[in-house]
Amino acid sequence: MGIATVNPSTGETVKTFEPLTSEAIDSKLAQAHRTFEQYRHTSFAHRAERLHAAANLLIEERERFGKIMTVEMGKPIAAAIAEVEKSAWVCRYYADQAAEFLADRDIATDAGRSFVRYQPLGIILAVMPWNFPFWQVFRFAAPALMAGNVGVLKHASNVPQSALAIEEILLRAGFPEGAFQTLLIGADQVAQIINDQRVRAATLTGSEAAGASLASAAGKQIKKTVLELGGSDPFVVMASADLEGAVSTAVTARMINNGQSCIAAKRFIVQESIADEFTERLIHKYAALKLGDPMQPETDIGPLATRSILEELDAQVKACVAAGAEVLIGGDLSNLPTPSNPALQQGNFYPPTILSRLSADNPARQEEFFGPVALLFRVPDLEAAIQLANETCFGLGASAWTQDPAEIERLTAEIEAGSVFINSMVKSDPRLPFGGIKRSGYGRELGAEGIHEFVNIKTIWVK
Ligand code: NAP
Repeated sequence: MGIATVNPSTGETVKTFEPLTSEAIDSKLAQAHRTFEQYRHTSFAHRAERLHAAANLLIEERERFGKIMTVEMGKPIAAAIAEVEKSAWVCRYYADQAAEFLADRDIATDAGRSFVRYQPLGIILAVMPWNFPFWQVFRFAAPALMAGNVGVLKHASNVPQSALAIEEILLRAGFPEGAFQTLLIGADQVAQIINDQRVRAATLTGSEAAGASLASAAGKQIKKTVLELGGSDPFVVMASADLEGAVSTAVTARMINNGQSCIAAKRFIVQESIADEFTERLIHKYAALKLGDPMQPETDIGPLATRSILEELDAQVKACVAAGAEVLIGGDLSNLPTPSNPALQQGNFYPPTILSRLSADNPARQEEFFGPVALLFRVPDLEAAIQLANETCFGLGASAWTQDPAEIERLTAEIEAGSVFINSMVKSDPRLPFGGIKRSGYGRELGAEGIHEFVNIKTIWVK
């Protein structure tokens, strides 16, 4: 499949696009480079005015943009509109904070004056995934543009209209041509960009395979990368937890974005003494979820974004079951509720699923499930919970539920992840750094840390 909008609810090909030629990529990089030479000298106030204008456009036209996302990748429409609003938030956040984050920082030494100055690097390449088509891009673009960099976007091939809409928003907001460009290209064309000397760094959000490929190409060119990759986040529930709060949040934390979020809770690790009660309530809530047309406001879960994701998830679940896992609910594509609208019969729907009895050698123990599939584990105590939480090769986020201060202390200290949320699901917030460790990647987006990733931290010494 090339670059195209294929509605995942119906299987209909809505629009196809020709990838840019190598010459067209070159001319867009030339434009970006020319723009950078001017744009790097603009003031924070000048950039902030444009970023606020972008936020205004996002809010004014949130429904239009939300619909583009729902048609392209199937997230429920209310969530799509909320994503547009969150994208406006990150624009406003960096518009207001960047001058402070990037102000000269004096450091006392034996110099007359010594200080650090933060300067832009140039063209930054962003390779982005389809699961949060607007949010992922704006959380890169807002700090990059405020720092004085310019951006080129290679978005996922199934969300071209989202990618073009974002370019249009930033142009209409008053950013100069070339400050932010969408390049409609396939993954095999990324190397040309990385190898181009005008491009100074790259960020990728996506799978481990894509991250490794981009980072090795960038490494050969001595270029910095930030990688936001997969996760299999634990959701630990101890006996002292607010059980109803934990169960309700467990549903949202797993089902958000039709189960396709890097920071979705994927492994539910529950203390033995409350495990029966937790499981019973979880199954009950899963059974009540409404699968269907994501354009309808009452739908909880829409289709998976592409046919291949559906097939991969189905194969993963079957392999786990073949290795001894027990299916508590779902797990069977042949038993889906028949949609009232016949057009939806070709949609990529997968039922909410819970798997348990996952022995140490079950493949599920090390894999990421990118869809509405929860893995359930029982543990005797905190020690075992922490050990299981740290078992995977990933280390993105973790959520843990307990009322016990000593347990909170140990969970926050010992869980190996880029973030730990206590009595809450893991979520991204413009004010807080976001990123992972281990095979979930490196570097941080958002917060003050995010804007410092792609700047020259220049040391200045004046005698
Ligand atoms: P993917 O296949 O890796 O795609 C992500 C992006 O990388 C797309 O733009 C894709 O382009 C591009 N790409 C793929 N292979 C590439 C290569 N060899 N070189 C350069 N670019 C390449 O990811 P996905 O499976 O669609 O997305 C889901 C994954 O992203 C999950 O693992 C999820 O956990 C992760 N994710 C992480 C975060 C985070 O912040 N940590 C956030 C969201 C998602 P094409 O579409 O053209 O292939």
